[in-house]
Amino acid sequence: MTEGRDSISGILARAAKSPHALSRSELATLLAVDDEARLGELFDAAYALKVKYCGRRVAMRGLVEAGNVCAKDCLYCGIRKSNGKVERYQLDADEIVRLAELDARQGYASLVIQSGEMESEAHTRFIEDVLRRIAPLDLGVTLSLGEQAEDVYRRWKDAGAARYLLRIETSNPELYARLHPAAHSWERRVECLRALRRCGYQVGTGVMCGLPGQTLDDLARDIEFFAEMDVDMIGMGPYIPHPDTPLGADRHGAGDLLLGLKMIAVTRLHLHDVNIAAATALQALAPDGRERGIRAGANVIMPNITDTRYRRRYQLYAGKPCLDENAGLCKGCLERRLASIGETVDYGRRGDSLHFRKRTGVAE
Ligand code: SAM
Repeated sequence: MTEGRDSISGILARAAKSPHALSRSELATLLAVDDEARLGELFDAAYALKVKYCGRRVAMRGLVEAGNVCAKDCLYCGIRKSNGKVERYQLDADEIVRLAELDARQGYASLVIQSGEMESEAHTRFIEDVLRRIAPLDLGVTLSLGEQAEDVYRRWKDAGAARYLLRIETSNPELYARLHPAAHSWERRVECLRALRRCGYQVGTGVMCGLPGQTLDDLARDIEFFAEMDVDMIGMGPYIPHPDTPLGADRHGAGDLLLGLKMIAVTRLHLHDVNIAAATALQALAPDGRERGIRAGANVIMPNITDTRYRRRYQLYAGKPCLDENAGLCKGCLERRLASIGETVDYGRRGDSLHFRKRTGVAE
């Protein structure tokens, strides 16, 4: 056995014993692992923790892409305001309620409503109305609607939302500044995460992995950021270039699937009891990308239940999967895929973050 192998095994053993056990350079060392045998060790250690905290079950949240109208102009995102090629849409309240009912019938028990970013009283009221109408379904509702005033977050919480996902995108403010127009503020995003916490949400954040100019030290720092912010949920995935964006225009080729999987594994090893989603971007890079995400330590999948006629218009990156597959087909396909790795779908349970339940004492 080589010296390197010994030290990787030692780091993994220490990480498995207790959360927050690793230094930044150890996190970066794990992210740099690239030979088959060590990768196997890394993923096995992370998966063992996933099984310890979450069992061999995967929590599901039906994903509704409620609209692609966006006030933001992120340089990497396919639905950025300045992308004139996108046909814009917004589902009406009846359509979102119908999808929430479908989600409940599928037995998923949790729902994610995501859209481009809008800040207006009309939009705030619209979401409040939707939340009140779906409340009788008793779903665990996650919102992913970007930066908002604290008062808006509170109103949506009061109307029935339980969780909020707002990716920091990168914990490095300088890298953030290179990926966004000057008017977008990294500090505001951090302040929004704090506001969400004050409002009582299960708070989720995450990053894109493999961004141009991003280093392994940046990614290790991202994991430390998750720990410092004491978040309950992580949603992250590989950056995938989109041809109609300033960042993706002259960069062809796929995102870095392996790096995305390693980030999941190292995050599980450092944080232990949080919910980690196997993002759709993993599946865009390999048909079995999400199952590999689960084997690397993730415990949540968000199958898209948006009507197929809208899916093409919500393309954040090139190669989005399941553009023509309705929710029923996705469900059967997912069950089979998870069975192939010895996992089952956790039907009928909301799958609240264990970390959140421990820190608040709230029972599921
Ligand atoms: N507007 C909300 C927000 O800002 O949080 C939610 C919608 S936004 C489109 C959802 C996520 O898509 C972003 O947080 C970003 O990480 C991801 N995303 C955008 N463009 C991407 C790309 N080219 N590759 C991978 N992920 C991307």
